[in-house]
Amino acid sequence: MGVTRTPLIAGNWKMNLDHLQAVALVQKLHWSLKDADHDFDSVDVTVFPPFTDLRSVQTLLDADKIPFGLGAQDLSVHDSGAYTGEISGAFLSKLSVGSVIIGHSERRDYHAEDDQVVAAKTQAALKNGLVPVICVGETSEDLEKFGASAVPVGQLEVALENVPADAEIVVAYEPVWAIGSGQAATPEQAQDVCQKLREVIRAKLGDDAADKTRVLYGGSVKSDNIASFMREPDIDGALVGGGSLKVDEFSSIVRFKS
Ligand code: PGA
Repeated sequence: MGVTRTPLIAGNWKMNLDHLQAVALVQKLHWSLKDADHDFDSVDVTVFPPFTDLRSVQTLLDADKIPFGLGAQDLSVHDSGAYTGEISGAFLSKLSVGSVIIGHSERRDYHAEDDQVVAAKTQAALKNGLVPVICVGETSEDLEKFGASAVPVGQLEVALENVPADAEIVVAYEPVWAIGSGQAATPEQAQDVCQKLREVIRAKLGDDAADKTRVLYGGSVKSDNIASFMREPDIDGALVGGGSLKVDEFSSIVRFKS
């Protein structure tokens, strides 16, 4: 029998919401879930605010005992030093940040982060006790040329070099053409790629890691399609961009079972 993996719904806010808006959203989301009698143990929720919001959100989560994880959207490959504008994993850990998005297509695209940078950032996260949420996915050109899985599989193989078998990681399959486009992958296509990504984890890190690691789908996830993804055996949650910015919508996504 396979291991049961607790679903993870992750909200990637990107460069949206200042620290005041962030605090308001987290508080309202918590109220909304409580009002709906949500079972907080059944689904893990992590929010990934901009760096400038992290301290405020962390203080609120602590003070109100809100059971959400706190994540960052990026980190430096370095721990400290003359790297103007960079934020290190060590600083994030000190702020009780638990996880960090790595290799999001917007970083790969606008900041020229290649697979080697993604691998180095994965190591930097692990070294600082952060769970890397490793994002992989194909562009529409890749899809046409190579099909859906070749590029994400290749990206993940590089990212997992030198990752210890017992490290906690999360993998997010995000087809670039589905991000922010309103055109999500079909659940069948997402399942097919997520299953292949799990096989990469198995080949690189072993059976235990393959069974335990949560593989998420991301790209135009909304309250009206989340359930169809969550029915797939190799999809353990979602990385949600636009849909995580509105309380009611994100609350419905988190409550995909109800
Ligand atoms: P989207 O973004 O949900 O707005 O498509 C997903 C992501 O970029 O992580």
